[in-house]
Amino acid sequence: MIAKKTLKLSLKSLKDFAKKRLPDEELIQLDERDECPLEIVHDMCSPDKLGIQLLFIPEEFGGMGGGAFDVYCICEEMARIDLGVATAVLATFLGSDPITVGATPEQKKEWLSRIAEEGILFAYGATEPEAGSDLGALRTTADPVVKDGRTVGYKINGSKQWISNGGVADAYTVLANTPSGPSWFIVEKGAKGFTHDEPEDKHGIRLSNTAALAFNEVYVDADRLIGGVEGQGLLQAQAVFGYTRLMVAAFGLGAGWAALDRAIPFSTKRIQAGSPLSEKQGYTHKLIVPHVARLEAARAYIEETAERIDSGTEGSLNTEGAIAKYMATEAGNLAADASIQALGGYGYTHEYMVEKISRDVRITTIYEGTSEIMEMTISRDRWQSHLKTRGQHYHERAREWEALHGRHPEVGANTAALAFHALAEVLEKARTGRLTRYQHILLRAGEWMAYAECAGSLSRRAALLAEGKLHEKANLRFDAKALATISRIFAREAALKVAEEGLRWICGAGGVSDADMPAFETSLGLPGVHRAQAGLISDMDSVADVLYGRAAKPAGVAA
Ligand SMILES: Cc1cc2nc3c(=O)[nH]c(=O)nc-3n(C[C@H](O)[C@H](O)[C@H](O)COP(=O)(O)OP(=O)(O)OC[C@H]3O[C@@H](n4cnc5c(N)ncnc54)[C@H](O)[C@@H]3O)c2cc1C
Repeated sequence: MIAKKTLKLSLKSLKDFAKKRLPDEELIQLDERDECPLEIVHDMCSPDKLGIQLLFIPEEFGGMGGGAFDVYCICEEMARIDLGVATAVLATFLGSDPITVGATPEQKKEWLSRIAEEGILFAYGATEPEAGSDLGALRTTADPVVKDGRTVGYKINGSKQWISNGGVADAYTVLANTPSGPSWFIVEKGAKGFTHDEPEDKHGIRLSNTAALAFNEVYVDADRLIGGVEGQGLLQAQAVFGYTRLMVAAFGLGAGWAALDRAIPFSTKRIQAGSPLSEKQGYTHKLIVPHVARLEAARAYIEETAERIDSGTEGSLNTEGAIAKYMATEAGNLAADASIQALGGYGYTHEYMVEKISRDVRITTIYEGTSEIMEMTISRDRWQSHLKTRGQHYHERAREWEALHGRHPEVGANTAALAFHALAEVLEKARTGRLTRYQHILLRAGEWMAYAECAGSLSRRAALLAEGKLHEKANLRFDAKALATISRIFAREAALKVAEEGLRWICGAGGVSDADMPAFETSLGLPGVHRAQAGLISDMDSVADVLYGRAAKPAGVAA
């Protein structure tokens, strides 16, 4: 981990670099020309220029040894600038990941030092035409080349698809099947038999180079097998999902806020029906405030997960990474889409940037694991917790949040507790009715779990802020009072979603008989969830006032 001061300096350098080299007009032109600004990417990753990649590399190999919290902060800032350029930097990080977690000391020294000292770009080659979400279906092979009874190298054959930096990287980590299973190999640019296609013509992140790769009898020495042992590839890929998904989560968060930060000032200047749009409640409470609440709920979860990863005591936190990615990228997409609406006709043109941000952020729910795969990952893991605790997992969490409510009645923890209780009851009904045989129920449960856990996380974050105990590098855009208000808004949404959608889909799967219905409705705590909605509009008014920097209106005065 790096010092707070160093992180601040890095963030400032990044902002200054972007201001100079990637102003809006330049970004719009590059997007229109569908061009990857390679020189800029190199300068960002060059140790004698911006050197942003140093943050990701451990100190022993010449980097700065940034932790998950530092990486989240940098990724959020990069996404605010441009998600295509951010993806080019991410690709080097992803590409070097199998090396960081699985390589031999000699391999680490060679490749991580080259990223730090020479600023070489990496690409991460996992996806194939037939193997996307299901990487187990990969067909690329690496056949051992044996001399005198010893494996001296491998011949790689096959293809990869949608590879970021595919046409511009200096080195590639490539997943291929060996006789002992999937394994990562390092292949250098220019290797004989290794080619890449023209860049893809994409919907968004048009500043990022994405290309297909082809391997035709590509020979690599045995020391290019990462870790020196075959069959470790999927384990090595999984070992870093918590971390890498957190980075994409930060992309969703940064892009979502970048869009809102354009919509908010626009709405103060745009006069319709005699007053600025920012003063119209039907505008702010649909197009701005709910998105702020969802993004800040995702941020709370990202920050909490980053802290836990940095503590080094809790394993890879894959499920938490999945929750963070799912919530932040879905929220980022919704926020960007709402921002187009918020700008009206201007929002629909290239010039005002929200249209580009909306196209760019779309990728974040697809790469590094789609939202549906995230729902499955979350649901499978928490389902096990439900079974192991005989249905008490989320009830126990609810009791923790009820206790938090006792200490901090202002942060919405009692409403988060309602979401946890309802979730436990929905899962129990799914268990007794054996409803997880319906994949749709399993995946929807993943969404409800993510909402309930983020509501819990945000209310805890608001309480910590009130106590002055937040992480020293935590984002402080909102003060304790505003964050508590945002937390109450999100907790209401989470509780309602879990209870009402849970009821809907459990009934939809035939899990409740007419006779059982009243008892099930009671167990979900529906009346309490409905009563908890009281005060929602006035909380949204308060958040709008904070966002627009205006004094609160007396209660009951319509905007
Ligand atoms: C711009 C871009 C950059 C990329 N960069 C890289 C990179 O650098 N390296 C790399 O290795 N890959 C990269 N990818 C690939 C990316 O990770 C995959 O596209 C992604 O994992 C999804 O795989 P797929 O496209 O094959 O879709 P599929 O897996 O075919 O999925 C299609 C749809 O089906 C859903 N689905 C899939 N399986 C299930 C299931 N079991 N149950 C229910 N629904 C399911 C998915 O959620 C999705 O909605 C990139 C992709 C793009 C578009």
